[in-house]
Amino acid sequence: MEYYLKCDQCGEVYKSSFEHQLCANCNSLLEVVYPQLPKAPNQKHTSFWDYENLLPNCNYHHYEVGGTKLIDAHNSENLTLKLEIENPTRSFKDRGSIVEIAKAKEYGYDKVVCASTGNMAYSIAYYAKLAGITSKIYVSKNANRDKIAEIRSTHDADIVRINGDFTKAQARAEAYARRNKIFLTGDYCYRKEGQKTMAYEIIHALPETTHIIAPIGNATLFTAIFKALKEMQAMRKITKLPKLIAVQSDKTAPVALAYKNRTRVRYVKPTTKADAIAVGYPTYGDHALEALRQTNGTCITVSDESMKKEQKRFFEEYGLIAELAAVAGIVAARRIKLRKSEKAVVIVTGGNV
Ligand SMILES: [Zn+2]
Repeated sequence: MEYYLKCDQCGEVYKSSFEHQLCANCNSLLEVVYPQLPKAPNQKHTSFWDYENLLPNCNYHHYEVGGTKLIDAHNSENLTLKLEIENPTRSFKDRGSIVEIAKAKEYGYDKVVCASTGNMAYSIAYYAKLAGITSKIYVSKNANRDKIAEIRSTHDADIVRINGDFTKAQARAEAYARRNKIFLTGDYCYRKEGQKTMAYEIIHALPETTHIIAPIGNATLFTAIFKALKEMQAMRKITKLPKLIAVQSDKTAPVALAYKNRTRVRYVKPTTKADAIAVGYPTYGDHALEALRQTNGTCITVSDESMKKEQKRFFEEYGLIAELAAVAGIVAARRIKLRKSEKAVVIVTGGNV
């Protein structure tokens, strides 16, 4: 779809030919804006690419991605699980990486850079390799060693482990992109567009959804879901926004704290063992707060111990492997009192362990 970019802070507008994901004036986040949304699609949707007309214009290669299964949770009548572990690199990140890497290629870049706690690194390295471009990835000190070892052995990514957390890795990636004129990928506007498709898949399959429960790391997925819901509302595909429920580890809960104290999101030192959500200052944290307010949602914290127990239970119950962050939503769902008529969807975000 035709689009332009708009700075979140200073309001500067850029044409789609602008090759960056941060504002040239103030270095803030840009947002993809579609002057006109297409009519709501009516046919049954089964594939990520059925939503291509809701993504930024680009010459996409139609790799198999998304279209992940929704399964009824065992032992709960109104809980459905969205299995994002089915994506090619076993996490939801692939939906966004496909869009980001396609844009990098369109702009003529032969290298991309990003910061990661693990899953992003895997996904970016994978799609960069497919596109024939190289990737440099800054990973945090606490990034999952097994994930990084696998990326090193199967993809050609140049991985730099830094002595710091994700927030520091992100600053390094942004500085590297600026210095070397390399396309910056990660939790920015194009990724958000790709990740929107997940909410479209959920609502098309289960229009009766009243709650969507997702873990928060950098909060890009959470705000992508919110953006998709707002688009669907504008298209009159839905009348009421489902409640968005954010889940964080009680050891790393900047959004939950800000929500509780009615402040802006402030940095906390990430100490959770759930590496995929070990983010002390989420890029889209304040946007997530807005999504919580507008959907009358809430933010729930869960302990690392409860995620560990749930991970084991998930394996025994479904015969599937999910990482700690990916079962955070299932733990949180137990705490929400759902009425008989209500239907919650939990995003099982990743399975890289
Ligand atoms: Zn700006």
